[in-house]
Amino acid sequence: MVKYFIYCRKSSEDEERQVLSIEAQLTELREYAKQQGLFIVREYYESKTAKEPGREVFNEMLGEIEKGVASGILAWNPDRLARNSIDGGKVIYFVDTQKIVALKFPTFWFEATPQGKFMLSVAFGQAKYYTDNLRENILRGIRQKIRRGELSAKAPIGYFNEPRLRTIEPDKKTFRKVKEGLEAFATGQFTLTGIQRKMFSLGLVGKTGKPLALASVEHILTNPFYYGHFEYRGEVHAGSHKPMISKKLFDQIQSALVANGKPRKKRGPKNFQFLGFATCGICGYAITAERHIKKSGLKFIYYRCTHKSKTISCTENRFLREEVLTEQVKNLCQKVSLPDEWREKYLARLESEQSESRHSSNLFAQNLRDSISAIKEKLERLTDAYLAEALELAEYQERKNVLMAEKKTMEERLSDFERKGNHWLELMRNWIIEANQALNLTKQENLSGMRDFLVSIGSNRRLAAGMLLAEFKNPWNFLAEMPAQAHAFGAGAVNSEANQIWWTYGESNPDLAHAMGA
Ligand SMILES: [Zn+2]
Repeated sequence: MVKYFIYCRKSSEDEERQVLSIEAQLTELREYAKQQGLFIVREYYESKTAKEPGREVFNEMLGEIEKGVASGILAWNPDRLARNSIDGGKVIYFVDTQKIVALKFPTFWFEATPQGKFMLSVAFGQAKYYTDNLRENILRGIRQKIRRGELSAKAPIGYFNEPRLRTIEPDKKTFRKVKEGLEAFATGQFTLTGIQRKMFSLGLVGKTGKPLALASVEHILTNPFYYGHFEYRGEVHAGSHKPMISKKLFDQIQSALVANGKPRKKRGPKNFQFLGFATCGICGYAITAERHIKKSGLKFIYYRCTHKSKTISCTENRFLREEVLTEQVKNLCQKVSLPDEWREKYLARLESEQSESRHSSNLFAQNLRDSISAIKEKLERLTDAYLAEALELAEYQERKNVLMAEKKTMEERLSDFERKGNHWLELMRNWIIEANQALNLTKQENLSGMRDFLVSIGSNRRLAAGMLLAEFKNPWNFLAEMPAQAHAFGAGAVNSEANQIWWTYGESNPDLAHAMGA
């Protein structure tokens, strides 16, 4: 009897308001399980969005399925299971390898046939298309707001978000107080903790009624928003809100900060995206990051060699701006990514490859099964001969042991093959999808995503003469070595390169050789 897990998911996103709550999903699914006589062994639910891979509960559930605790999933709709290609691919892969033998949805009919799997991947794909679109719409909205000079984020202290007009307006209660605090600090007579106390005495308090944290005070003192600009993604834009102070006063505050403020250094990966990401190309020692605040109040982050080596006197004295490094990271990601047309072309090809490979794998497996049953027959005849006293015990045992060993070898080969017979196709599929997603990362300017991606597919990232270099694992290196124009021209112009990658990937894979009966 197939054992099922129930899986429910609800995200807090607006677009999913129409989706049933977890409780409602659970009630519906329990009812459905009762009607259909499904044997439920556990219920899983989580409130994380499915558009990024790596939901904890989801992964835990797949882990349990891998262990064989259950082999079926009951969920409200395929879009509850996967909204990104990795999770979707995992589910389909589990179906392919029969770790999952049943998927039930009250709103969607699924059967583990090629057609059923195709329909399922279409359903997953639609869910992904939907999130991609949503993300694009949100970004478009933000860009429009920036163009109109409105900040899309939360108003800083002294201002409030006007909900009807969606603008940022001075807050009558705090505007004058913040202004007084800023003017006081500009005189140069306050330290950071001094101005913290001053602001408290003016009535500027944190959420709990305590003095503002030093980090918040520092943020107020360095926020260009107060003189009419605002920062979005490290870029300064002109705002449409009423400025609180002049740029001149802001500059005085910055000098006062340098003199008296001793602003605390912010640390951590959130502030320095590429800390620990690369080494120095000359001495091989770590690259460090530094923050500089210019007189304009703009913050810049630089990366440079730590010069820690005692044996090599490193000649690399270049400072690389974070923006420059980001651009290079982006270029590198683009170099190892696949355009959408390629993705489609490759996946289509993979599809036909898969059916061909299935055919030859079936033959291979069938041959093994035939050999195993032939050995079983021999064993039976051997036993008959022994029972008929045609054989001595010693001779019987000797012959039997040889056959048993042979049978064991065959059985192992078969189970090994059944486990990973078409593994390379899955690897290839994942690779295509990952390479295509890399392009999305660059389009979204997803810094941490690009960083993690490059770390996962290569090694020896180094900065030499202001250039970021890296080595890539197979098959990413093929993409990296491809001429740049091939990436730009798209599918038509690059057929031969595409073919080369395709075959090298397939042929360099030992599983393929195995599947072909080697
Ligand atoms: Zn160095």
